[in-house]
Amino acid sequence: MARYSGNVCRLCRREGHKLFLKGRRCETEKCAVDRRNVPPGSNLRSRPRRLSDYGVHLREKQKVKRIYGVMERQFKRYFNNAERMKGNTGVNLLSILERRLDNVVDAAGMSMSRPHARQLINHGHFLVNGRKVDITSYSVRVGDVITPRASRSSKKLVADFLELSGDKSVPQWLGLDREAAKITINALPTREDVRFQDIQEQFIVELCSK
Ligand code: SF4
Repeated sequence: MARYSGNVCRLCRREGHKLFLKGRRCETEKCAVDRRNVPPGSNLRSRPRRLSDYGVHLREKQKVKRIYGVMERQFKRYFNNAERMKGNTGVNLLSILERRLDNVVDAAGMSMSRPHARQLINHGHFLVNGRKVDITSYSVRVGDVITPRASRSSKKLVADFLELSGDKSVPQWLGLDREAAKITINALPTREDVRFQDIQEQFIVELCSK
């Protein structure tokens, strides 16, 4: 699957928001958004452009795609699935995105960031219900149990990141057993469980429904 491989801080600057794509660096004064929050390539002194409604909606969609590391085609597929589900399409879309395995691993504190979680999953460090899953977009279900692979290196890697993440709060829909390095999916994520509460999902629905 195609994936963005450039400088991720440019993505944050483009959206004008911290998207937390670089782990601990995002919390330090080295964060590019904190230091220079202007779109890449633009002049610091130039006046910010006023966006049309279409532009605002488009930027919201791009922001969400970049937070979750999803490319256009896959995003469209998620949107179509969200439309077919019962309930609010925007909330359904966010729920689908939250259920991605890379998001779950990151939300539980077993990686430094979502891109890092993707790398760990791609390298086969995780099991779902005892079976190796190296597909980052795997959609977790209620009752799924996610653990590091039995190898000493995978266990140590995950234990180290869990220790680094300290007492970081974990969304309620995930049951995390730190000692056993085990995540249990207790429920499906609700709107309140989405870590980026400022997402305007209705803008994305308006844009994608056209
Ligand atoms: Fe974004 Fe993190 Fe880079 Fe800051 S340090 S610009 S939040 S990826």
